[in-house]
Amino acid sequence: MIIGLMGAMQEEIEPLLKFFKEYETVDYADNKYYIAKYKDNDIVIAYSKIGKVYASLTATIMIEKFKIEKLLFSGVAGAINNDLHIGDLIVATALCQHDLDITAFGHPYGYVPEGKIYYKADETLIKIAIDIAKEKGIKLKEGIIATGDQFVANKEKKEWIRKKFKADALEMEGASVAVVAYSLRVPFFILRAISDAADMDAGFDFDEFLKSSAKNSADFLISMLDKIK
Ligand code: SAH
Repeated sequence: MIIGLMGAMQEEIEPLLKFFKEYETVDYADNKYYIAKYKDNDIVIAYSKIGKVYASLTATIMIEKFKIEKLLFSGVAGAINNDLHIGDLIVATALCQHDLDITAFGHPYGYVPEGKIYYKADETLIKIAIDIAKEKGIKLKEGIIATGDQFVANKEKKEWIRKKFKADALEMEGASVAVVAYSLRVPFFILRAISDAADMDAGFDFDEFLKSSAKNSADFLISMLDKIK
């Protein structure tokens, strides 16, 4: 099988590249794609750069050019749900775009005609994650992740996103990867470790915890590889 492992920032894929050690690098569309082997699987790794547009581009390329058959995303996020603390893992059951707004025409937030507000992640991959978390005694929350092209460092904004979308965490790529993978019929999985609480201190916390949280998320993703069939 060909499995795609994706992040948004260099720091998010660094632990993956370290784990695979040997890989081939392919330059394509202003980005780098790293091709590795793991047991019987081919692995394609890339970080997209931040935001929905770059994430959509990278997810599309992984699927259309590199022919990945499953897409797993690993990275960091801001917490909305008070159960989530820095370093904790959240797996998205569904994802939405909190900054998508044509409400002027009577549509709900996050919706455009012929689209959906929520895109559901692959249940089999989620189940694998839950089983591993149980086995290893790791705290793993299941919840809704809201995506938008904004770094949220504001309590009111975060509260608004919680209310409108019942979201548990927020970040800047997940939902766009979800739309691409859903449209191209590739099972996808989005995992995030909390780097900040999307509040006043978010910028400071993010810088301090990016590396350690990114590693938590990447290490968990690696532990899933043996179980993906
Ligand atoms: N410090 C970086 C910018 C980081 S943007 C720089 O200067 O280049 C935040 C990244 O982490 C995004 O990829 C996003 O998906 C995730 N993220 C973590 N906390 C977030 C928050 N509070 N709001 C939005 N995205 C967040």
